[in-house]
Amino acid sequence: MTKLERCKELLGCWEQPDYRYRQILHAVFQNRVSRFQDMTVLSGELREKLRRELGETVLTLRPVRESRSGQADKLLFELEDGSRIETVRLHYQKGWESFCISSQCGCAFGCKFCATGTMKKLRNLTAWEIIEQLLYFHLQGRRLDSVSFMGMGEPLANPHILQALSLLTDPALFGLSQRRITVSTVGVAPGLKRLTAEFPQVNLAYSLHAPTPELRKKLMPVEKRWSMEQVLPLLNTHILRTHRRVFLAYILLRQINDSPAHAKKLAQLLRRNLRALPLYHVDLIPYNETAHSGGIFAPPEQERIQEFLRILRQAGIRCSARTQFGSDISAACGQLCAEEAHNDP
Ligand code: SAH
Ligand code: SF4
Repeated sequence: MTKLERCKELLGCWEQPDYRYRQILHAVFQNRVSRFQDMTVLSGELREKLRRELGETVLTLRPVRESRSGQADKLLFELEDGSRIETVRLHYQKGWESFCISSQCGCAFGCKFCATGTMKKLRNLTAWEIIEQLLYFHLQGRRLDSVSFMGMGEPLANPHILQALSLLTDPALFGLSQRRITVSTVGVAPGLKRLTAEFPQVNLAYSLHAPTPELRKKLMPVEKRWSMEQVLPLLNTHILRTHRRVFLAYILLRQINDSPAHAKKLAQLLRRNLRALPLYHVDLIPYNETAHSGGIFAPPEQERIQEFLRILRQAGIRCSARTQFGSDISAACGQLCAEEAHNDP
């Protein structure tokens, strides 16, 4: 349980009026006060009691390592039970700040190219643990312009994700608009349906990564459980209901899925299966090398990326190639944490 959740419980035990907790949330989220002793709206006695029970600050997670590179900062956090997760802050010119957060510690889906999938420890983060990653930066006075669930874990496999989205969009807390939030998923069908129904304006990114079920199965075991054939129609339904654009993520892996033939097959797949094609956007992501690449996975050559883009565009598919921020600090999914886990005895 996070400190803010325990704080609510304690106030109940101490028979404090209900508005007391709201005052604390207001101090934390609106005035960005992190230390109990600075919450001047509370009596000195209550501040002291909270400090004694919960420690100096409202944050439960503890930063253990920070790496910086260009436009990306990566934070490794330790949770109450010693689990480690990571959060990436991307900052752009003109002051735009974007955060990439984790939804689970580790991941059960075991995509072959992903460092998070190699971690032994696995558990869902609670809704409050998810949002504490942002609270950390909020309390430092950072702007939270956009948030994406592209850190460790599969958000739609975590039942707490919907509560986390409620907390993120709650005007008394972060008050983020749904349109500033992106959920990236490998296509967990039941979770996807609930997301469409309950948070229709949240941006959706589907991790496709292969133009055929055969190749996807080799790279992503999830294809056997929730196949692209099942998921692509759900994306069509999502667009029909929400009129929102859907992103299709495609990691380019050298000699594995980056050839002109793969690009043509991908174009065929999308043209055949997608309705409202102009509302889809293919996001090509050059593979980010990790300690687990094992000589199997490597990023594509520049010309391959350009050729891939050209073929998709010629087929009338909107697409762009993502530039790599912070590949030198392992800014892709789960890398820093997996490195730590492997370094730990
Ligand atoms: N589990 C969700 C969200 C977290 S991963 C999902 O897979 O969609 C976020 C994105 O990072 C996914 O598209 C994933 O495929 C990608 N990714 C993982 N490892 C990567 C690497 N080494 N290089 C580039 N992208 C990577
Ligand atoms: Fe899990 Fe996403 Fe990594 Fe696959 S890419 S192992 S679903 S975090």
